[in-house]
Amino acid sequence: MKRRDFLAAGIAGAVSPTILAKSKKLKTNKNNPVIISTWNFGIPANEEALRALKNGGDAMDAAEAGARNAESDIENNSVGLGGLPDELGYVTLDSCVMDSAGNAGSVAFLQNIEHPVSVARMVMEKTKHVMLVGEGAKQFALSQGFKEKNLLTEKSKKEWKKWLKERREMTPHETHDTLSVLVQDKKGDLAGACTTSGWAYKMHGRVGDSPIIGAALFVDNEVGCAAATGLGEEVIKSTGSFLVVELMRQGYNPNEACQEALNRVIKAHNGNPDFQIGYIALRKDGKVGSSCLKWSFDYALHKNGVNKLNNVKGLL
Ligand code: ASP
Repeated sequence: MKRRDFLAAGIAGAVSPTILAKSKKLKTNKNNPVIISTWNFGIPANEEALRALKNGGDAMDAAEAGARNAESDIENNSVGLGGLPDELGYVTLDSCVMDSAGNAGSVAFLQNIEHPVSVARMVMEKTKHVMLVGEGAKQFALSQGFKEKNLLTEKSKKEWKKWLKERREMTPHETHDTLSVLVQDKKGDLAGACTTSGWAYKMHGRVGDSPIIGAALFVDNEVGCAAATGLGEEVIKSTGSFLVVELMRQGYNPNEACQEALNRVIKAHNGNPDFQIGYIALRKDGKVGSSCLKWSFDYALHKNGVNKLNNVKGLL
């Protein structure tokens, strides 16, 4: 959409203000777990999350298990092991978790640890802090028994060396794919996790939205939860996931809440953002939603016993 068309049409998919009335208390979805994850590697992540639930785990256990699955997937070059490195050749990882009690933990710029999501969970459960970064995060991980591992695979190293020759600017929609997973367990409690190696060939030291609570992930056990993928800088500036949850609190359904959060970004970019953001949302009553800015976006949904890949088209 051109800027002129955008101004004429108003904000894409704008939601009627009448729904801004305070929402009624939502009926909690119980005994019917719901798992929603970003991208196609959300399918195996959902399966792993479901396994954790079947083994008696709660929503947080399941979200962590889902994220761990993507972190160990060597074929996936944007999360954990096999992730594309920064411009200096270092694989640096960002991750966060949030549980149904509103507790949160995160790690940023973590290196040589295969499961940043589990370190984030330990930050949440074993420290008085929310976020640890870099060397401090690594030292904490090692103190908790995590082992150091080289995460730069031969394949990713080769890609990086190829990139070095041209040093072409890569946008995250070319090399993105954060795994964000939201879970509602059989009690109806909500939790989420997010994990990524971030923007390929980013500046050394760059941290995206994925470890920022409220940006890439937010959980409010009364209302719902939301998570993001896409250009982290823009998700941070719009406090995306928190906004999606707040909009659900105001009465927007999960799809509308994702769209409205994206409308703010569209407006901030004069109707013509040239990057991708995708949101997923899960409401307390078990309803899910998703939206993305441009092109299209896949998310994996496990609901009513079926785990399926879905696609949403971009708002623009
Ligand atoms: N949000 C991630 C980041 O900016 C990348 C992505 O999900 O595409 O690091």
